[in-house]
Amino acid sequence: MLTAIFRLFLVLVVAGIAGLVGKSLLGDVVGWLIAIAIPVFSLLIAFINQTRLDIFVKGAGISSLSGFGGGWPEIFFRLQRIITLLRKDIEHVERQHKRFIEAFQASPNGIVMLDDQDQIEWCNAIAERFLGIQFKRDALQRIHYIVRKPEFVEYITARQYEEPLVVENMGNNSGLILRLQAFPFSENRRLLLIQDITDLSKAEAMRRDFVANVSHEMRTPLTVMMGFLETVQTLDLPPEQKTQYLEMMMDQGRRMKNLVDDLLTLANLEANTQPAPNNRISMSYLVSLIKNDAYALSQGKHALNFEVKTPCDLLGEEREVLSAFSNLVSNAIRYTPDVGSINVSWSINPAGEGEFSVTDTGPGISSEHIPRLTERFYRIDRSRSRETGGTGLGLAIVKHVASRHQANLVIESTPGKGSTFTLRFPPERIS
Ligand code: ADP
Repeated sequence: MLTAIFRLFLVLVVAGIAGLVGKSLLGDVVGWLIAIAIPVFSLLIAFINQTRLDIFVKGAGISSLSGFGGGWPEIFFRLQRIITLLRKDIEHVERQHKRFIEAFQASPNGIVMLDDQDQIEWCNAIAERFLGIQFKRDALQRIHYIVRKPEFVEYITARQYEEPLVVENMGNNSGLILRLQAFPFSENRRLLLIQDITDLSKAEAMRRDFVANVSHEMRTPLTVMMGFLETVQTLDLPPEQKTQYLEMMMDQGRRMKNLVDDLLTLANLEANTQPAPNNRISMSYLVSLIKNDAYALSQGKHALNFEVKTPCDLLGEEREVLSAFSNLVSNAIRYTPDVGSINVSWSINPAGEGEFSVTDTGPGISSEHIPRLTERFYRIDRSRSRETGGTGLGLAIVKHVASRHQANLVIESTPGKGSTFTLRFPPERIS
């Protein structure tokens, strides 16, 4: 400002001196003309420069500076350099900002930024879905006015963020379990992170159920065994009765061993996520092995029929396939009352798939149980299962073996008439 006043003063002084010189040399009129012309000319130059500066600032570039005299081009040149650097800085910051937004959008977790008033400053698309909000509509609204779930409102307003909040069924997401946690950051803002933990929670619940089931399954034979042991220890029993008790204990011991064996088989199958190897398994040989075991288990109480319609090789893991087939056949024998019949067959269907089928004339299974039969420890007839030495894990093992061999387990059953369990292997597994 001072420079501008000084310049004006300078122009007026120069105009005055020039006017006086003009007046003394060339007369009054010329002197006045010179004294007026100098400030007018200065003003004109300043006006033209201002206009050009305006044009330049609007982006016309350095070429618009041609025609300037004096120190102006130098000043404009420097100005343009500053503007160019500033523009580059702004572009760089904008690019970085865009990348941050893209990274936050790519996150599998919901992210919401809240200001010090709990108003939504920004959120990603996942957070919109999890919380049932729309950023365009709800920006700068207090989040707890939009997300009305009571426990969420309490969490946000209480401002105690050390622990996460776990909520179910937020927004329109029925069945979804979310873990939310707020993290304070600059100027009293908060970053709200939302994670979908539905699968994790289900897996955790399954693990808890599984441990409870195994403990229960183990405790029953153990309690029985300890009861017998106590009796044998405290009572002076005749030798025949002692032998009988020892046999009963042996039975319980076998039950526990079967359970542990099945648990280990299942654990191994679950640990192995790779497809089964392509070892050649002769179906005629495998069926003959199963046949021997089946006759031993049935003890002549059932009509058994075994048929290998297409003798060929299956490509897979023999131990696993044998365990799956044996489970299906032993189930048919265990659940079919005496005098019933069981048909076991291996064939190739018109689509080239290999089918191992076990049909029995047992009690059958009503349709509501069928989808759950392969769950661990799911039983329809608990006492029949226990009486016949079942562990409740047989069909779970079959399902895992099937999936390792890209096979399907198909269960068809009519209550009161019988059931057919079919393992269908893809043509690539048939040789
Ligand atoms: P378990 O060791 O109890 O037999 P599984 O997993 O092999 O366990 O079978 C689960 C349940 O499915 C059994 O408890 C039984 O109720 C039912 N089930 C299996 N196979 C048959 C069958 N062939 N006929 C009738 N019910 C069956």
